Amino acid sequence: MAELSVVEKKIRIQGHGIRITQELKAQLQREGYYPIALTWLGDDITGPFSFAGYGEDSPYELRKIDGGYAVFDKGKFFSEADFYRKPHFFDRTWSNGSADDEVGTVFIDEGMSGVITPCGQEGLIDEQGDILQITRGRFPYLTLACYNGLVAWPSWGCLYTKQNHPCKFCCIPGDYDESKVLINHAGWLDNFADTVAAAAEELGDDIRQCSFTVDAGTLPGRDKGARAYIQVLEAIKKRLGKLPEFYYTRAVIEPPQDDEWLYALRDAGFTDIQMDADVYDTEERKRIMPNAKGYRPIKDYENTFVKAKDIFPGEVASQLIAGIQSDEHLLKGVEHFASLGVPTLVTPFLPFGQGVKLRKELGFQVPSATKMLGIYEKAANILTKHNIGAPEFRGGVSSLPEVMGRRHKRVASLTNKPQAVSSGDESKLLHPRSETSKRCGAVAQI
Ligand code: SF4
Repeated sequence: MAELSVVEKKIRIQGHGIRITQELKAQLQREGYYPIALTWLGDDITGPFSFAGYGEDSPYELRKIDGGYAVFDKGKFFSEADFYRKPHFFDRTWSNGSADDEVGTVFIDEGMSGVITPCGQEGLIDEQGDILQITRGRFPYLTLACYNGLVAWPSWGCLYTKQNHPCKFCCIPGDYDESKVLINHAGWLDNFADTVAAAAEELGDDIRQCSFTVDAGTLPGRDKGARAYIQVLEAIKKRLGKLPEFYYTRAVIEPPQDDEWLYALRDAGFTDIQMDADVYDTEERKRIMPNAKGYRPIKDYENTFVKAKDIFPGEVASQLIAGIQSDEHLLKGVEHFASLGVPTLVTPFLPFGQGVKLRKELGFQVPSATKMLGIYEKAANILTKHNIGAPEFRGGVSSLPEVMGRRHKRVASLTNKPQAVSSGDESKLLHPRSETSKRCGAVAQI
């Protein structure tokens, strides 16, 4: 069989997950790595893959080999693997004060959810990787994204979950609980800003290669949560005197109902905005998202995309999820959005949170590698046709923007391998926007 490209390897892993024993997890932890973030060959970087989230039956297994780690496919060497170092600021935690709530979370790396709550098990994990206690859907400790992106979630609670109509693929586990709306807790914003300060200090110049994303469950109100997002940036500015020089500062949000919120987000410091349609076809939207988002016409997204393109200096992007809608509809969406100048991040359905039920009860499956390759290639070709760069979004267990033409460099301070480019040699620092922003194209071009 011909040697697989790195991208093909990633897609295969994405479709299966990787098995890892508790012993190996514990060993990685002892070595100071964050054992769920996997990086690949040389500078090539990918988001973390869940070892436990959906990989129970995976043919891929992580093993310790001489001088490092590797992934094996049914016992045969598949790829080398190495891991992000666990930053010190990961150890910071936040609690709302009651003993029950010591698991409160300030930051979350989107990709962590699959590991911390594998297939819906909501557990606190000890040093050996064993689940210690049920956390009722909250995440066990403060985490800040490690794959070149810092992600803040001011609310794990979502209006639609509160209304008992969550999106059926939603990765946020558990039922609605007021304590998940972190932004409402006194002290959370201050603690959050302190942690950003600690992260900024630890990352040093590498922060220029880190993205910053604010994401949340949909909050009540016509702003859809924009008010809370703005508070997040204001808290950082108050603590540091200014926003760090992130390579982008992105709001991931349902389109606010009034354009004034787009201006307010931009004025607060957001450079980019991502409004995930997730499902394109009207009937499929209602079926998979039986809530106000699902009943919102795509025309609303179109209007907001067009407006946002005039307002934000960076990228206006969207996401569509493969495996929960027909491929034909998904690609129609990619085409429609590309015609507006908006790239779509295509991600596969992964069975986390509400998605556990979608898989177990309704039979939806993680799309196969072959299927994803086909979709990625068609989506990338659509972007090329419209002269749109591949989405810049860098993060999420399911996102592989590189399969649509984008390659990211890893950030030296977050990886265990020293890089030729270091914070002491700024002239060589890659600014991702300048090097990759127009590299779009089919998988074969990578
Ligand atoms: S996926 Fe749907 S239910 Fe889940 S947080 Fe987002 S809007 Fe809410």
